Amino acid sequence: MKFCIFAGCAVRWGVAIEIKIKIHIMTQDELFKILVAHCKEYGFIFPSSEIYDGLAAVYDYGQMGVELKNNIKRYWWEAMTRLHENIVGIDSCIFMHPKIWEASGHVGAFNDPLIDNKDSKKRYRADVLIEDYIAKLEEKVHKEVEKGRKKFGDSFDEAKFVETNPNCVRNNAKIAEVRNRMNEALNANDLAELKQIILDCEIACPISGTKNWTDVRQFNLMFSTQLGNTSDDTNVIYLRPETAQGIFVNYLNVQKTGRMKIPFGIAQIGKAFRNEIVARQFIFRMREFEQMEMQFFIKPGTELDWFAKWKENRLKWHQNLGMGDANYRFHDHEKLAHYANAATDIEFNFPFGFKELEGIHSRTDFDLGNHQKFSGKKIQYYDPETGESYTPYVIETSIGVDRMVLAVLSNSYKEEELEGGEKRVVLSIPAPLAPVKVAVLPLIKKDGLPELAQTIMDELKYDFNCQYDEKDSIGKRYRRQDAIGTPFCVTVDHDSLNDRCVTVRDRDTMKQERVSIDELPRIIGERVNLSNLLRKL
Ligand code: ATP
Repeated sequence: MKFCIFAGCAVRWGVAIEIKIKIHIMTQDELFKILVAHCKEYGFIFPSSEIYDGLAAVYDYGQMGVELKNNIKRYWWEAMTRLHENIVGIDSCIFMHPKIWEASGHVGAFNDPLIDNKDSKKRYRADVLIEDYIAKLEEKVHKEVEKGRKKFGDSFDEAKFVETNPNCVRNNAKIAEVRNRMNEALNANDLAELKQIILDCEIACPISGTKNWTDVRQFNLMFSTQLGNTSDDTNVIYLRPETAQGIFVNYLNVQKTGRMKIPFGIAQIGKAFRNEIVARQFIFRMREFEQMEMQFFIKPGTELDWFAKWKENRLKWHQNLGMGDANYRFHDHEKLAHYANAATDIEFNFPFGFKELEGIHSRTDFDLGNHQKFSGKKIQYYDPETGESYTPYVIETSIGVDRMVLAVLSNSYKEEELEGGEKRVVLSIPAPLAPVKVAVLPLIKKDGLPELAQTIMDELKYDFNCQYDEKDSIGKRYRRQDAIGTPFCVTVDHDSLNDRCVTVRDRDTMKQERVSIDELPRIIGERVNLSNLLRKL
């Protein structure tokens, strides 16, 4: 266990003096386990159906989680629809005509290559097993580089070191070879080759430790159910595996009724369902999850320019939250999905490493073209200026709400040691996303302080999500608010009754300031209002 020094102090009226002296540095593994427990303890995320021992890879959001999730959705929705005059929103249904999923390619190609270990009976995605193997090699290279950095100090030249150090050279060559083989096998749908890579790399089952594998098979990820009251096969419908198709099939409706001119976009937030095999890592990969997707319709030939613009726009949206620019990176796809001619992921530095948070895809006219074919309806855009008609191309941005919740929570969780040995757990959630914006706390439960606190609360609640708390010592109440990430605590003391001033405590610095009650909406609003975050985009 390591500690680092952090400077900071706070003094005010003896309400509570808190000085932060150390931040507890955890391993990423430690952090992840603690975070999952914290999410449950403080009402963010619960395992679904918990009293029946839960349901794998399905989670419910509690009273804090739903607020955080709604704030994330609002940030995305307003950034898309309010800040872009040419983007509008819709809300389409989960159930759609089954032909849609034939047209989109999901019936034929929405598959994962699966392999079973014969000893543990555990099922894995073959590509994920290989990716994990590559990640281990990358970790070895990283460790070697860090050793070199320590040894050579200021004169360290990382690029040269990686090129010449025998261990780095060997591991990097292996990474390139395995990745190439895997991409080629996935592109060619060569399942035998995928198995061969697993055997050649001597990848063992993490549970049984053996290399006793079945052949690789394809497995469709869509959930199906029955429509109506007959059990006829023609009534099989699917729970949508993405929200995008609801946008494509409404393209004509929106374009015509909204008199939209290309380029324009349609945004949607909604549930999606996938029968994921590798369902692990908490809310990172779930079977029922939520997506925020935007399809941007453009003239064919302009797609690579728009693709670059949307990459930049979306990265900015993330970085605007102030969670550390170095925690994001692009991962351009080598293996393109059946519909794409360019694709990238925005990856985030989760506790288990850099992983996909958002996908940006240039989807060509694949979807609209296929819906035209399958439905027999003409789906085109008539350009009034040039007089030509064409099937628009599409740039898609697609982000998982739940992965965004996990990114925010894992980045925010901190354990700190205060002077005197007391510990605090704080969630430094970006203030506009915090579930509760302000806690109103009477110093004691009598002498008219609760009544004044309640009056303040009654005024603030129209602008901010507030919590009133009069139970336990003020220190304990601060800790409770820190643990759910409340940016401000407002404490009402005896002086408040006369001078109409209160103490405002800042979550991150723990600094306390005496301010007039009338000033509270301005002081709090400056930091927590979504509009101020949007203005910075
Ligand atoms: P992955 O490679 O991680 O399976 P994907 O490439 O299949 O993801 P997309 O189809 O591009 O994902 O979906 C867009 C976004 O939806 C992803 O970037 C992710 O944030 C989210 N998402 C996809 N599958 C899940 C899931 N099972 N649980 C939670 N979020 C998901």
